[in-house]
Amino acid sequence: MAGKLDDVGTTIFTVVSRRARELDALNLGQGFPDYDIDPRLTELVAAAMQAGHNQYAPMEGLAVLRERIAAKLAARYGLRIDPDAQITVTLGATEAIYSTVQALIGPGDEALAFDPAYDSYEPAVRLAGGRCIRVPLAQPGFRYDWDRVRAALSARTRLVLFNSPHNPACTIAGSGDLDELARITSARGINVLSDEVYEHVVFDGARHASVLAHPELAQRSVAVFSFGKTLHATGLRVGYSVAPAPLTRELRKVHQFNTFSISHPLQHAIAAYLTEQPRCGEGLTQFFQAKRDRLRGALEGSGFVLPPAQGTYFQLLDFSAFAEPDDRAFAERLLNEARVATIPLSPFYARPEPLAFVRLCIAKRDSTLDEAAARLRAFAAAAGRA
Ligand code: GLN
Repeated sequence: MAGKLDDVGTTIFTVVSRRARELDALNLGQGFPDYDIDPRLTELVAAAMQAGHNQYAPMEGLAVLRERIAAKLAARYGLRIDPDAQITVTLGATEAIYSTVQALIGPGDEALAFDPAYDSYEPAVRLAGGRCIRVPLAQPGFRYDWDRVRAALSARTRLVLFNSPHNPACTIAGSGDLDELARITSARGINVLSDEVYEHVVFDGARHASVLAHPELAQRSVAVFSFGKTLHATGLRVGYSVAPAPLTRELRKVHQFNTFSISHPLQHAIAAYLTEQPRCGEGLTQFFQAKRDRLRGALEGSGFVLPPAQGTYFQLLDFSAFAEPDDRAFAERLLNEARVATIPLSPFYARPEPLAFVRLCIAKRDSTLDEAAARLRAFAAAAGRA
């Protein structure tokens, strides 16, 4: 039958995780931790269910959880966010993105995304009846080319989809980038959807530049966040959006008919966890930087080049030293020959560029990272370089 997303297949994350299971490979593809979560969180989930929080939660999210989120935003970014008017609890960041796009994009509208773009952005825009205009980040280093962005804007542009720290480029946007984003969007009143799920994973002393802390962008932006990332538990599927009251009202109109409300016991448990550990996100930088450095160290001199990783819990692997022009084919070789699952970058491009990168997830036990590095080194030694 003719569908609305005829050209869209199963997500690369699902495809790769399935293949990794079939081949019993180390899965450094899809981004999720392979170590245990804090047992305290498990206890709090059980306690919330035992306490009887098992019926519908409020549509906009549990008040106490939204208050904890506002307190975190105050402590981390010095912001005064009204939890009732500006924060909505969503089914992961993905629902926040989807509901925002449905709320803001209508038939014929355009939304702009930067390639490599996270794979849920364009389908959300198309299902809203809009067009997603894809502007590639410039090489080397996945930099914003603001002249190119300006040229891609039209009278129909309603939304810019922004992402920092950037998945899968592993870069972070600087305050200059946010200033440019503010300049180009302000003249036309364009809204910004800012995917900041890796806000706590910014390396080497850099600070995360949130649109919420940018006085001008904060007026027109919806920022989305993820407890799955912050609490090392991607299966929670609890995230949230932060936006000015008028944008939040529109977003909630969609959210209420999309997911209606989010798991009540999980929201209680997360709120209790944040009460006990209000600064739990702050340790993530150190935690993941150690993992990044461990993997980088273990692959030194292997033949793979590891471009700088400024943030996110991923690390790119540059395989241009190997005679393989196609990143999907190279990822498949790594799966079959090294038994290591990785994510190629071409699925994140509207018009794939000849880039020799695959993405590795570093949110893994040290022993997993060591084993993956050993397998990649053995692969490189056997494959020889071009
Ligand atoms: N965010 C995860 C990643 O980038 C994937 C989530 C998913 O599979 N939908 O790997």
